[in-house]
Amino acid sequence: MSPKEFVLYVEGLTVSFDGFKAIDDLNLYVDKDELRVIIGPNGAGKTTLLDLICGKTKASAGSIRFKDEELTKKLEHEIVRAGVGRKFQTPSIYENLSVFQNLEVSFPRGRSVFGALAFKRTPEVLERVRTVAEEIGLADKLETEAGLLSHGEKQWLEIGMLLMQEPELLMLDEPIAGMSARERELTAELLKRICRKRSMIVIEHDMDFVAQIASKVTVMHQGKILAEGTMDAVQNDPRVIDVYLGH
Ligand code: ADP
Ligand code: MG
Repeated sequence: MSPKEFVLYVEGLTVSFDGFKAIDDLNLYVDKDELRVIIGPNGAGKTTLLDLICGKTKASAGSIRFKDEELTKKLEHEIVRAGVGRKFQTPSIYENLSVFQNLEVSFPRGRSVFGALAFKRTPEVLERVRTVAEEIGLADKLETEAGLLSHGEKQWLEIGMLLMQEPELLMLDEPIAGMSARERELTAELLKRICRKRSMIVIEHDMDFVAQIASKVTVMHQGKILAEGTMDAVQNDPRVIDVYLGH
C-alpha cells in the first residue's frame, strides 16, 4: 500500500536513551477511522511510542507520516495543529472551572484574526461545547465544577477537551486506569462512539476492556512489534503468551 492510504505511517522508528533502544526499528500503520489498541508488558515502549508521535520525544531515526506530513521534524504544538491529540495518564483539567469552561477554553483559538484577539462565546463555540458534552456523557454536568467530578468523569472531560480540537488522530494512554467497572463500560461505549469520526490509538492492558473495543490489536515488546491481528489471534499467538508468562 502507498503511504497515502494510511492516516499514520510509521517506519523504521528508533529512539535511544543512553544507548538503550526504547523503540527499535518499529513499523506501524493505522487506517482512517481505525481504533487500534496497543498492548504489551511494562517497559515495552508503548508510552514512548506516543511520546514520539506527539513530538514530546525526538526520534533518533525513522519517519512518522501523518497524512501527508512528516511529524518527526515538527514541534509539539505544530503536531497538535496538524490534527493529532494525545491524552496522558494523569488528567490535566482545570479543577476550579466548570465542565463548560474547561471545554470552552479548549476550543482552538487563533484560526482567524478575531479568534486570536478575542475570547468570545460565539455560537460556533457554544455549539461545539454542547456537541462534545453529549459525546462524553457530561451534557447534564456543564455547570459542575470539574474538581467535583468522579475520577472517571474527569478522564472523560479531558477526552472532551481534546475533542474540542477535532483531532483526526486521538491517542489515549491507559484511559481506564483507576476507573470503576461501570465507568469502564461507559468508557468503552464512549471510545466506540468517538472513533467513528477519527483514527485512535489506545494503550491498555485490561484485556476485558480491550476485547470490548478493539478491532485490531498490536502487541509491543522490547521496543518492537511482536504481533498484530484480532484479539483472538494475538491471545493465541505463542510468542505473545511467552512474553506475558515471562512477566
Ligand atoms: P511502557 O509504556 O510500554 O510501559 P515506556 O515507553 O514507558 O514503556 O518505557 C520503555 C522503556 O524506555 C523503559 O525501559 C523505560 O525505562 C525507558 N524510558 C522511557 N522514557 C525514557 C527516558 N526519557 N529516558 C530514559 N529511559 C526512558
Ligand atoms: Mg506506559
